Amino acid sequence: MILPVAGKTIGLDKGKCDVPFLSHAHGDHTGGMKRKEEIIATEATIELARLNATSVTHPGTQMLNAGHILGSTQLWAETDGGTVLYTGDFRTEDGICTKGATPKQADRLIIECTYGDPSFSFPPLEETYSEISRWVKQNQNSILLFGAYNLGKTQEIIKVLNDYCGVTPVVTPESEHFNSVYEKHGVKLDRVVVGTDEAEEVMRGSFVAINTPRIARRSFASRLSQAFNRPAYCAGISGWVQKYRMNIDIGFPLSDHSDFGDILKYVDLINPKEVVFVHGDGSHLMRALNKRKGTLFASLGKSP
Ligand SMILES: [Zn+2]
Repeated sequence: MILPVAGKTIGLDKGKCDVPFLSHAHGDHTGGMKRKEEIIATEATIELARLNATSVTHPGTQMLNAGHILGSTQLWAETDGGTVLYTGDFRTEDGICTKGATPKQADRLIIECTYGDPSFSFPPLEETYSEISRWVKQNQNSILLFGAYNLGKTQEIIKVLNDYCGVTPVVTPESEHFNSVYEKHGVKLDRVVVGTDEAEEVMRGSFVAINTPRIARRSFASRLSQAFNRPAYCAGISGWVQKYRMNIDIGFPLSDHSDFGDILKYVDLINPKEVVFVHGDGSHLMRALNKRKGTLFASLGKSP
């Protein structure tokens, strides 16, 4: 999606334009950004995405915290046709590494809807962090494996393990670029990297490890159990555990997105004249809003 602002076109998580806005560093948003010299994004986003571009601002626009991962922002803009707020991916609640999204009133709201199905309803983060901590403490003589994406969720679970459980987890080298950028921006993360002497030392006893959701499954846990001769269990940490069976021992609904109810609350808070849903299936949300308003207030947009 493109916005015309102050004589230039701004691409919303889209490189094909005069100046792109990059909401955050997840790979499904960075398309077409590699060759850009100037991007409207935070320094942290540019570093996490390994881009060479300069972080710039643009007249008539404002970056607002999105609460999704480190550096993530929403874009508020004054276009010829009125004000617009684009959320990118966002979470309204304060997390252990990020503050919740900052709302700002706009005529048109372009909002993500990854969890736009009413069956998604996440407990408060504090509750989920405590549940995770309880499970880790209950299984302190076992090997525990968490499935988390390298950027965002890995750093959140490291912090939960550090602060709630006093545990230093074993992490993969692939997550280290992201871990070090988080640290550079003030989020201290105690961890050891698999393959190092420190990790070998930690792995002599029971330990907690983090790997990608593709690896952190029951089959890998049973291989770990055989190799280290102690019980091993794997946990999924994702909003999707509320809908799908994932070949894991336990699932925690820890998401860095807003759930169905939070998305609707955010729409009310922004109080726009028009809502467009992107990044997900917004059909349930669209129906809920249009029914409530009695007009064609919400629609489905093509994801940027
Ligand atoms: Zn994302």
